[in-house]
Amino acid sequence: MKNIIMPLIAATMLLLVGVPSIAHASGAVNVDIFEGETATVNSYLFSNGESLVVMDVQRSTAEAKKLAEMIKNKGLPLTHILVSHGHPDHYTGMSWLLKQFPKAKIVVANEDIKKDILAFSTWMESVGWLDAEPLLKPKSEKQPNGFDYLNNINVLPSNKLSMIGGGELTLSTHYSPAEAEHVTTVYVDDINGLFTSDLAYNKVHLWMGQGVTKKHVANWRAMLRTFRSEYTQLNPKVYPGHGKPSDITLFDTLVTYIDDFNHITATANSKEMAMKKMKALYPDYKEAGFLLKYSVDNHMK
Ligand SMILES: [Zn+2]
Repeated sequence: MKNIIMPLIAATMLLLVGVPSIAHASGAVNVDIFEGETATVNSYLFSNGESLVVMDVQRSTAEAKKLAEMIKNKGLPLTHILVSHGHPDHYTGMSWLLKQFPKAKIVVANEDIKKDILAFSTWMESVGWLDAEPLLKPKSEKQPNGFDYLNNINVLPSNKLSMIGGGELTLSTHYSPAEAEHVTTVYVDDINGLFTSDLAYNKVHLWMGQGVTKKHVANWRAMLRTFRSEYTQLNPKVYPGHGKPSDITLFDTLVTYIDDFNHITATANSKEMAMKKMKALYPDYKEAGFLLKYSVDNHMK
């Protein structure tokens, strides 16, 4: 009898001792939100209690400095800086963050997004906008100390970003051109959270400015409807690129917003009148002076 019980006890002891490390190895992912002041753009900081990944890093180095403090206060290693798409409100902070966290890797979901980022920065440099953000000036013969986009931005080998210590982010990029040419959304199982990047904004005017054609707006609207039907069953919390978290009814709200925008810009007598009508319909939406203004400008003669 003893011969049977002793190994059993030993096995039970092993199991018990093993439990904490099993739990440790699959640390559930949670998220903290850094709300930028500029354009109400969000950075999302994922943690599993062992390591950190940050998604999107703000439109200015000044904001990135505050974000870096938040990351440092967690006292955990930052492994990845994930940039969702090639718009500067989501990537300008990357140069500063890489200086603060040299062991972190800047990553994007595909080669297209890497190209979008370099193209946008090259254009900003050509019109002098990067004089205000010298850390982002592309490395060149003229600028040997510039930011090395080609070597510092890594394309992820798969659509799964596994966190050290457990948990993973599932990335999707199969979208038509909309707010941006290419975009990444992230789904996190542990929190049933859908991080839409700029396919969704919450109570912030949508960017339909330069580069966002009528066709892109139509693509965008169609994608919002697809999200609504595809995610109805899962019913995730929705974390938008700009503005506060919401639920999947946000997609309905945004379809209506796009319909209103299309109707008003097609029928208003002037840009001023279109602005006035959109502001009257969406009085509590932020960034009218920038995002809405340039969107109206782009879609009216
Ligand atoms: Zn954005």
